[in-house]
Amino acid sequence: MKMKYAFRILPAVVAAGMLAGCSKNPVTGKKEIVFMSQEKEIALGAESHPSIVATMGIYDDKNLQSFINEKGMAMAKISHRPDLPYKFFIVDSPVVNAFAVPGGYVYFTRGIMAHFNNEAEFAGVLGHEIGHITARHSARQQTSQIFGQVGLAAGMILSPQVRAMGEQAQQALGLLFLSYSRDHETESDKIGVDYSSKIGYDAKEMADFFGTLKKISEKAGQSIPTFQSTHPDPGDRMTKVGKLATEYQTAHPGKYNVNRDAYLRKIDGIIYGNDPQQGFVENNNFYHPSLKFQFPVPSGWQYENSPAQFQMAAKDGKSMMLFTLAQGKTLDEAAQAVVKAYGLKVVENEKATINGNPALVMVSQQVEQGANGQAAAATANTIQVGTWLIQYGGNIYAIHGVAAAGNYAANAGQFRSVAQGFKSVSDPNILNRQPERIRIKTAQRDATLRDALKDANQPDNKLDDLAILNGMALTDKVTKGMLFKTFGK
Ligand SMILES: [Zn+2]
Repeated sequence: MKMKYAFRILPAVVAAGMLAGCSKNPVTGKKEIVFMSQEKEIALGAESHPSIVATMGIYDDKNLQSFINEKGMAMAKISHRPDLPYKFFIVDSPVVNAFAVPGGYVYFTRGIMAHFNNEAEFAGVLGHEIGHITARHSARQQTSQIFGQVGLAAGMILSPQVRAMGEQAQQALGLLFLSYSRDHETESDKIGVDYSSKIGYDAKEMADFFGTLKKISEKAGQSIPTFQSTHPDPGDRMTKVGKLATEYQTAHPGKYNVNRDAYLRKIDGIIYGNDPQQGFVENNNFYHPSLKFQFPVPSGWQYENSPAQFQMAAKDGKSMMLFTLAQGKTLDEAAQAVVKAYGLKVVENEKATINGNPALVMVSQQVEQGANGQAAAATANTIQVGTWLIQYGGNIYAIHGVAAAGNYAANAGQFRSVAQGFKSVSDPNILNRQPERIRIKTAQRDATLRDALKDANQPDNKLDDLAILNGMALTDKVTKGMLFKTFGK
């Protein structure tokens, strides 16, 4: 959580995706139904951008940013739609992914930037993402998926199906945005080969990166079929893309660059994994060093931290809590904003003090709206929300405890103890916690990757992760003078 941005939902974006028309596909040249005009596509990208930033944050690294701008614009120029207002961003997420929004917005996570081992791998993925834009792969598909993520917590509050959402929330953790059809992915892989080759990169490296993706998914226990039955297996993609790259280079002989060392030097110092300064969970507490607060996390609960909010849910999915920044300058203004944002009917409302901080406690219900817009009588689907608004450090924070009305009483004590556990943090061990970073080292001798990592004092329990990051096996050979990735501060 960075709290730079207020929490917000974008229903307009999904609605915009419904506008359909017929036009010629810029890549295939075939007439086809598209979901929006080019103007709408551009507007969609511009509208979605703020909520992507709110969910993930922008990763602050000028050199890397200018690198992706330069390569992105070079590729945009040779693409099938050079006239779109392309924009390229690195988002501050440890998840390994890249994604595109219609209209020319392309995002890479710092997680994927840390995993590339040369410019050619990056260029292949860049081409793949630009391909989704230029081939106008159903804008609706991608946006609904993105907003499935962004709107996750809002969905949990607004939906009567708390239980179902609890399970979805779990599934969504770490699996951003992968929602294209198998055919679209295959088509984008081919475009990725063409575009990256056209700006001078060796597309065989893109094939190798699918090997890295395969290792990551295997390690995380997220074998492909369980998370997206429509998504192509990275192993298959590796074979297919390798073949396409060879065909391209045979048809267009020339020099194709890899640029390994140049890339590795660019990512020297990149943050790896979660950044503790944006909040972390330890010993059943959520700590936020840069905002200097903490609160308890019930044991066994699932949680997810993003720049805009921290959410957590019981394993059975029957209750969840959401922590976020509240709107308004006073507790009363904040309460009114909450009531309006979620369509709540207040049942109880009182002022309080929580660990010395002024607070307002509110219990309310979210009753389903009937077809005539009238609130229906409270039913089994009625959601009850306990809200604690707490004034602290110049901000007002909102802690919501959410359950079905019939289940609320059983969870009220748990919600209360979390909210009442909100307090300042002063322990320097928490406040000064630093993220792990990738540090590029030079091999001092001919050896295996394992030996090189041991020479660089890397701990045994990190060697497997480092092998994946280096795109190698621990038994692979490194030669004296070769660069490789290590962990450092
Ligand atoms: Zn894709």
